[in-house]
Parts: sequence; C-alpha cells; structure tokens
Amino acid sequence: MSQPTPHTASVAPIDIPHFIHGVSVPSQSGRRQAVYNPATGVVARHVALASAAEVDVAVAAARAAFPAWSATPTIRRARVMNAFLALMNQHRDELAAMITAEHGKVFTDAQGEVTRGIEIIEFACGIPQLLKGDYTEQVSTGIDNWTVRQALGVVAGVTPFNFPVMVPCWMFPVAIACGNTFVLKPSERDPSASIFMAELLTKAGLPAGVFNVVQGDKLAVDALLGHPDVKALSFVGSTPIAQSIYERGAHHGKRVQALGGAKNHMVVMPDADVEQTVDALIGAAYGSAGERCMAISVAVFVGDEIAHQVIPKVAERVRALKIKHGMALDAEMGPIVTAEARDRIEGYIGLGVDEGATLVVDGRGYTVPGFENGFFTGATLFDHVTPDMRIYKEEIFGPVLACVRAQTFAEAVDLINAHEFGNGVACYTRDGNTAREFARQIQVGMVGINVPIPVPMAWHGFGGWKRSLFGDMHAYGEEGVRFYTKQKSVMQRWPESTAKGAEFVMPTAQ
Ligand code: NAD
Repeated sequence: MSQPTPHTASVAPIDIPHFIHGVSVPSQSGRRQAVYNPATGVVARHVALASAAEVDVAVAAARAAFPAWSATPTIRRARVMNAFLALMNQHRDELAAMITAEHGKVFTDAQGEVTRGIEIIEFACGIPQLLKGDYTEQVSTGIDNWTVRQALGVVAGVTPFNFPVMVPCWMFPVAIACGNTFVLKPSERDPSASIFMAELLTKAGLPAGVFNVVQGDKLAVDALLGHPDVKALSFVGSTPIAQSIYERGAHHGKRVQALGGAKNHMVVMPDADVEQTVDALIGAAYGSAGERCMAISVAVFVGDEIAHQVIPKVAERVRALKIKHGMALDAEMGPIVTAEARDRIEGYIGLGVDEGATLVVDGRGYTVPGFENGFFTGATLFDHVTPDMRIYKEEIFGPVLACVRAQTFAEAVDLINAHEFGNGVACYTRDGNTAREFARQIQVGMVGINVPIPVPMAWHGFGGWKRSLFGDMHAYGEEGVRFYTKQKSVMQRWPESTAKGAEFVMPTAQ
C-alpha cells in the first residue's frame, strides 16, 4: 500500500461541522475550538462547539426518525449495517490517516483501531438473530408467554479522544441496529472521523436523522444529559466525568453506562518467559504513547530475580523506541494528543522523582528532528514504585511504566484488588494453576493470561470493574444489545379457551 498523505495544516483552517438529519450543518453557536496536528503542533482545523439549541435540533431530528426506523424490519436494518461495513472496509486507510492526523498515534496502530471498530459493525449485522426473543408455549392451559426487546428511542454517545473511530463504534452500530436513533458527541480533540462515518452511513442507505453528530464540549454533553427525549447515554472517558455523568443521567431518569479511567497492572511471575514478557510490556505500555484505557501502566514483579531479568531489557528497548511522526512507516510511538497532556505527563514524571521512585529512563524534553513544535515526549520507565505514590495511584495516560515489586502471588493479587480502578489486567506465567487462580481471584473486568491487552471481541462486551465503569452494562456484545433495548413480556390467551369468570387470586399455572 502506498503511504497515505497526512492531513496537515497546508489547507486553511475550516470548521468541522455537525451532522444532522443526513447533512453537514455549519455551526450557529459562534463557539469553536482548535484541532491540532499533534506531530507538527500546528492548528490544522477548527471544530464547532454546539450550543444547547443546536443539541435540541439534533435530538429533534433523531426523535422524528425514530418511529419509522424502529418499525423497519431487523433484516433491513442489518442490510444497512452490511452496506456500512463494506464502506468502512473500503475507506479503512482514509479513516486511519484521519486518526493519525488528529490523535497522533502511528498509522499502523490507527489501522488496528479501525479494524477493531469494524468488528463491532460485523457483530451488529447479526441483529436479527440477537433480537429474536424468547417464547414459552402453554405457560398455563391455553396461554403462551413471550419476551421481546424493543428499542429505547433517541440514545446518545459521548466519546474520548483516544479512539475516535473504535469507541463510537462500540456504541452506534449496536444502538442503531437495535432500532434506536443516535446522537454522537465525539471528542473535540479529534472530531473529523465522526463526520466521515456519518457520511458513510448516509451512503449506506441509513435514513436521515437516524445518526447525528453534534460537535462540542461540556455544554453539549449537559444539554444531552438534561434532554427529556434522550432515553439513554453511553459515555467513555475519564473517571471523574464518568461518575458525574452517571449520577446526573440517573437524576434525569436516563439509562447510563459510563466507562472511566484505568491503571492496568501486569503481574510477572517468576516462571514467565522473559522475552515474551519484555515484548508484551513494550507494546502494551508504550503503544499509542500509553494513551489507551487498556495500556499497561504498572508491572508487578513477583520476586526480585524476575525483575532483575526483565527490567534492564525493557530499559534497553525503551531507549531504542522509534518515536516519530505517526505517518513515518517505521514509527513505533507518535506524539501526545495536546501540549497540555504532554505537560501533564511530564509533570507526573517530576512528581515520581520527588516521591522517591527510581527513574530508569527519563522521556522528558524529547524532540523529533523536523517536528520540533510537535507534542512529543519520550518513553519513561520507573522502578521501585510503591503503592503510596501518586504515580502508582493515579492514571497518567501517557508512555510511563511503573515497576513495583511483590514477594508473593497473593501480595500481587491483593495490591491489584486494592486499587480503585479495575479495567484491564494481565498475568504472565507458564503455570496453569497460577493462571486459573489469577483469573478467578482478580477484581478486574478484563483479564489477560499471557495476553497484555485483553480487549474482548465484539460479541463478548467491554467493561471494567470498580471505578472504571459506572452502571452494570458493558459496552457492545450482548450487554450492548440489552443496554439499547427494553424488555417487553407478552402473555396471550384466545377467547375460546376462556370461560372461567373473574379471577381474584394471583394467576398460577392451571
Ligand atoms: P475526558 O473525560 O476528558 O473526555 C471524554 C468526553 O467527555 C469528551 O467527549 C469530552 O468532550 C467530554 N467532557 C469533557 N469534560 C466534560 C465535562 N466536564 N462534562 C461533560 N462532558 C465532558 O476523556 P479524554 O481525555 O477524552 O479520554 C481519556 C480518558 O478516557 C482516560 O481517562 C481513559 O482511561 C478513558 N478511557 C476509558 C475507556 C474505557 O473503556 N474505560 C476507553 C477509552 C478511554
């Protein structure tokens, strides 16, 4: 494949619009925000920031589209998803280049993101099977009982910057296939992919108003949360905002799933394969510059011997990482999304030094020749981090790996179970019983055994535990279908089988 052209600032900055009722809609609010190319540090475009009135227009479009779309036979909704799937595959590299241009992650990683998003669309194509319901014949003499799941109405999604294609795809393909209409509020840092996907949905034959995008910030999210016509809201982002959205959404009587932040540990047992462990730590800690909710940010070594074998090798690889513009074909790590995020990450590195951790590799002040104004930071490695340190407790969301030591397996498990987050976790071992006990005892939603980033497949559902998820339904998979539908039970009897007079006791099987 030829290398795609990066989106750069060579074009004059333009507004990234909303997408309402099947068309792009320029902003009316007068509010807009810069969107950077993180590799160059240049303002590439501007994104509209919606007013509450603009959110109202999008919700009204979605509400108007709901009766016809929810009454459309599931097989016809699935056909639209199939056409959308084909278009997403056709435009995979354009989407990936768009992600790299606004997020900064390397192009091959962005291609992987698009692929993981496409897998949810593949799952949504099976919606006739997923919605077919349950039926019990003869629950009482002459009476049948069945259960169907019906769409909720207008549902909304609010998504983070770190997966501008994949995370929206956790939500809208499932929601729409279930018969809902959708309003997406993407991250204002990398909003272009949302408009591109909206256009592809229209090309796929989705009726106007079924999928809408409002660009914006807190103001737009607040308008969605308080809107009486929005029946459910899916949120993915940082924990304080996830919690607030969950609480406020519940206050307004909405169904909410709010996925939050993470601090994912990888336990390295004394019998772990050293080379595989080093490979896993490098990819999982520094891939996408650590800006993944499933990134490994803590390595827990059980016993000093394995730590002494692994840490020097990790340090050597960290120093040799190819940190470049994301479109460079050999890049392994790109820039950080914004200058503020880069400064926050480097602030945490200073804090770690002050807290007494051993700074093995210092990524601060990294520059890439030709991209001196880009938001780059190097990869950082800390050893001898302890659970009382803020660099252990808090989510840094950058390319910083903290190594901690535990003397026993039980100590490692207790450490992880005591942490406030419970998104992902991994255990590297060659012992089957250790692996089994780890999976059984660990208080974390997604577990990898010799798999560093165990993001569940499209039909299994994604979600953490503890303060990594507010609400009980995970994203996508069968839980996604349940989240976006409500159950209706129908009990039926036909007249010729009745003639018993009024019944005043609780009905029981006859
Ligand atoms: P963020 O919380 O800053 O923003 C997420 C979304 O919320 C954006 O659309 C943003 O516009 C909106 N928002 C921001 N402030 C708001 C406010 N005060 N009120 C209402 N809405 C607001 O998160 P981010 O920086 O875009 O993404 C990184 C975070 O997302 C990390 O904490 C990461 O762990 C988390 N994340 C979690 C998962 C998961 O599945 N658990 C997946 C991806 C990212």
